[in-house]
Amino acid sequence: MLEVKGLEVAYGDIQVLWGIDLEIREGEIVSIVGSNGAGKSTLIRTISGLNRPLHGEIVYDGSNITSLIPCEIVMKGISQVPEGRKLFAGMTAYENLMMGAYSRNNKQEIEEDLSFIFHLFPRLYERKKQIAGTLSGGEQQMCAIGRALMSHPKLLLIDELSLGLSPLLVDNLIDAIEQIHRRGTNILLVEQDIQIALEHADRGYVLETGRITLSGNSKELLNNPQVKKSYLGI
Ligand code: ATP
Repeated sequence: MLEVKGLEVAYGDIQVLWGIDLEIREGEIVSIVGSNGAGKSTLIRTISGLNRPLHGEIVYDGSNITSLIPCEIVMKGISQVPEGRKLFAGMTAYENLMMGAYSRNNKQEIEEDLSFIFHLFPRLYERKKQIAGTLSGGEQQMCAIGRALMSHPKLLLIDELSLGLSPLLVDNLIDAIEQIHRRGTNILLVEQDIQIALEHADRGYVLETGRITLSGNSKELLNNPQVKKSYLGI
């Protein structure tokens, strides 16, 4: 459903992505793993239309979306949970969720998605009137995931799901991601924690200093001696 071909991205004179090729097939959870500064956020931001590539193509559902602007990409069915959540801090959790639905007008469908999000995250329901900036880190991540779901995406891009969160909370979020996936949304998960990322994905890509160095079945990647040595220290 998504194909990235030969993607090259630079900030000014400094190139950070070098000929990235990857694909996400219908029904998949795909992970991109790599250490700090590898270019994971840059890749996800480029798919979302927030960064412009120097070269390469992004094809989604058969159409070339490389030059579309972010809101057009959201309307095509791709939405992003950004690194660091980036909520509207002065608005309530509920208002943040509704911001995710800004391009929709079918009230019944919006209500259905809202119910699904509150079913996924009962804690968010309890806190819906709370100012987002005062939510805990975990609640903010729930709110950011919920906001992205409110555009009813077919592809959800998640940048650093686990960052700064306790293992128990990450387990809950992973469980939510699996429920979102079962409801028919494809997932691209970008993670520094390689164990979390690969344990729950169908396939994975390893990104190192702007290049894909390994890819394949996620269980095989987790057992790859090079991955074990470089990322798991075993
Ligand atoms: P992390 O896991 O630490 O978030 P990452 O893999 O997501 O890292 P990126 O954030 O994509 O990596 O950064 C890749 C490279 O691009 C880094 O060297 C970073 O300093 C650089 N970079 C990122 N954003 C900008 C920017 N806006 N301007 C200039 N350089 C940038």
